[in-house]
Amino acid sequence: MNPSVKINYYDTFKCTADKCSLTCCQEWRIAVDEDTEKKWVGHQIKDDATNKALSLCGCLKKEDTGSIIELNEEKKCPFLNQDKLCKLVIGLGEDFLSKTCQTFPRQVKDFKDRQECSLTLCCPVVVDLISEQEPEMLQETLVWSSQEEAVLYEVREMMLRIMKNDAYTLTERMLMIFYSLLELLEVERLTIEKVKAVGSEKQLKPLIKAIRQMDFSIIDSILESNELFLDVVENYRKQGLYIEYLEPIAQIAEGIEEHYEDKQLLEKQAEFIKNLEAHEKLLKHYLIAEILGSSLLPESSLEDMVVAFEWLVLEYSVIRQVLFLKWLELEGSLPYEVIRDYLSVLSRVTGYDADDVYEFLEMSFEDIIWDWGYMAMVLGNLKI
Ligand code: SF4
Repeated sequence: MNPSVKINYYDTFKCTADKCSLTCCQEWRIAVDEDTEKKWVGHQIKDDATNKALSLCGCLKKEDTGSIIELNEEKKCPFLNQDKLCKLVIGLGEDFLSKTCQTFPRQVKDFKDRQECSLTLCCPVVVDLISEQEPEMLQETLVWSSQEEAVLYEVREMMLRIMKNDAYTLTERMLMIFYSLLELLEVERLTIEKVKAVGSEKQLKPLIKAIRQMDFSIIDSILESNELFLDVVENYRKQGLYIEYLEPIAQIAEGIEEHYEDKQLLEKQAEFIKNLEAHEKLLKHYLIAEILGSSLLPESSLEDMVVAFEWLVLEYSVIRQVLFLKWLELEGSLPYEVIRDYLSVLSRVTGYDADDVYEFLEMSFEDIIWDWGYMAMVLGNLKI
């Protein structure tokens, strides 16, 4: 069996079920695998609302990629009871849960030479875990049979080294990672030595100097992030999903240019970033967890890693903008619980699979690989 590489808080996770602030049993696709579907045939449970029997298979909806649970009018799983507990578990036992429900929020990825286990941030309890500790992979010694996997693993290590380096601001770290990735894309035959050289201090020193001398437009960065947010949530708003979270701030986003003069917006943004500094560590841990969990998948190429990183930056700029809009709505207040739940909602909303990420980027940009200037425009030179 391949050695296992596990995120440090993997075994600490415990679902809080009815105490959860943002249950995973509502407002998104809950896949049901074929084995579970077969097991469900002929089984029923009592529907609390009507007091009638509810057929398990009658709650399924067929999609091109398989079956999912059809949500009720409140956009919740029909098996969720009034106490926010699962009727399937109570009435029939855990064996009747689909693989998705049994494993969430765990993610297990099988590479040629290792198995990686992490937890998705779509669950608020996982955000609580990263608020307390810096994510890192606990691993046995890895022996590589695939040179390509070893090199891409080293690329991720390079990204992590930069992301963990507190000598730079979070936005500088993201800009340096992207620049380094673009350089690696130009290399004809990639080796571990080449990756180490590109991510070395010797290379990064002149890069950070150049970044610090650049002109950035914070207004452009705010307005671009605003547009990205509205684009990303468009379908969710149309389908009435996460309305409580998305709608009030989407309305502020739509009116932001009318409501605020540029000077006023810049002042508000500066004040907001100062407030957000109290949560800088959480955002750094969020970025590290995302690099560990999403930047390198089995069968990934270097180009896939660059695209995944672009998606991460898009997600980050949307999160930062969403927190700004929420801060405006709450008139200068941003409690931790609000940040936590928005991190989870946005992780769900932007949690596309790799093909959908490619499709979104192809439809939205001329080239799937952004030029570095666009990345700089989205992130700006904000501290966070
Ligand atoms: S989101 Fe996490 S804590 Fe909440 S119900 Fe789902 S698994 Fe449990």
